[in-house]
Amino acid sequence: MKPFAYEAPADARTAVRTVAGNPAATFLAGGTNLVDHLKLGVAQPGLLVDVRSLTSKEITERDGGLSIGAAVPNSDLAADRRVRERYPVLAQALLAGASGQLRNMATTGGNPLQRTRCVYFQDVTTPCNKREPGSGCSALGGYTRYHAILGASEHCIATHPSDMAVALAALEAEVRVLGPDGERTIPFTQLHRLPGDAPERDTVLAHGELITAIDLPALPMAQRSRYRKVRDRASYAFALVSVAVAAEVADATVRDVRIAFGGVAHKPWRAHRAEETLRGAPSTEDSFRAAAEAELADARPLDGLDGGNGFKIPLLTRTLIAVLREVCA
Ligand SMILES: Cc1cc2nc3c(=O)[nH]c(=O)nc-3n(C[C@H](O)[C@H](O)[C@H](O)COP(=O)(O)OP(=O)(O)OC[C@H]3O[C@@H](n4cnc5c(N)ncnc54)[C@H](O)[C@@H]3O)c2cc1C
Ligand code: SF4
Repeated sequence: MKPFAYEAPADARTAVRTVAGNPAATFLAGGTNLVDHLKLGVAQPGLLVDVRSLTSKEITERDGGLSIGAAVPNSDLAADRRVRERYPVLAQALLAGASGQLRNMATTGGNPLQRTRCVYFQDVTTPCNKREPGSGCSALGGYTRYHAILGASEHCIATHPSDMAVALAALEAEVRVLGPDGERTIPFTQLHRLPGDAPERDTVLAHGELITAIDLPALPMAQRSRYRKVRDRASYAFALVSVAVAAEVADATVRDVRIAFGGVAHKPWRAHRAEETLRGAPSTEDSFRAAAEAELADARPLDGLDGGNGFKIPLLTRTLIAVLREVCA
């Protein structure tokens, strides 16, 4: 591991100034992703700036919704009664991720910023445009089982690994950010980027911008919401595909719906076409299938050493139909 310095500033503004002014500095929260990357040599910062005690550990009421401090541990968030009752999809997504011990350490700010699990990204002996821009993409023609079918580019086909982020995309959460020039708010669906020709940038955050909180809007239909994750092992594995759904149904008709997918793109994938197909449609299996087909019309499965990832299209279709059946029943 490359030697690094460590600082624990007294407040968030000092932390932001420190990181923004030093290209080799980075924030440290729970460390469950970053410390792994230090050990692997994937991340080689010169300075770690510890922010875990600089943002709120509270979940508070805000405009009919909830505001979640960036330091709230994933386990506390999943256990919060208001989250379980008003946003069950979020509690379910959190509990589908990692392990109890990891969720105790992992934070609300760090979870959406965890980096891809692409095996080549984590192996510093292989070319990877995300880790080393311009070096190439080893996954193209390699192992693609966990890679993208939507929104990928010739430069990177990685997927985003967070379960929590898929629920937050469906819930239309907002991210509050502190930068050197002050605060701003970013719709959660615009936080993450598609790879394009700059896959080294996972998000729209500038270097030194600190997530201070994530806000959940008042969304009554979220009481009727679900997360389902399909994976190679029953626990302790990342999603092959996942689906988050919230819906409002009356008189056997889908009045309104929010859908997001995980495991299929460089970012949590908000399924707008599927939503449009379903709004006003009868709450039937045929409508659910039509929604999946509309969203996946542009899916581009990849060949690969392990048979590729074309299986994700039928798998995601079936998973979406199953979740809609439960939520819209
Ligand atoms: C064995 C294992 C299994 C896992 N399984 C799953 C799984 O199934 N599903 C899943 O979703 N996750 C899984 N995870 C990932 C885990 O959820 C993340 O590692 C964790 O959520 C990251 O949060 P953290 O606070 O530890 O972030 P850190 O590791 O401290 O930081 C992660 C990144 O975010 C940045 N950062 C942290 N906080 C902020 C902030 N407030 N503002 C700006 N930047 C910030 C850091 O600089 C770093 O780049 C797994 C992890 C492990 C080790
Ligand atoms: S898919 Fe992306 S992360 Fe994986 S090797 Fe290619 S460039 Fe790197």
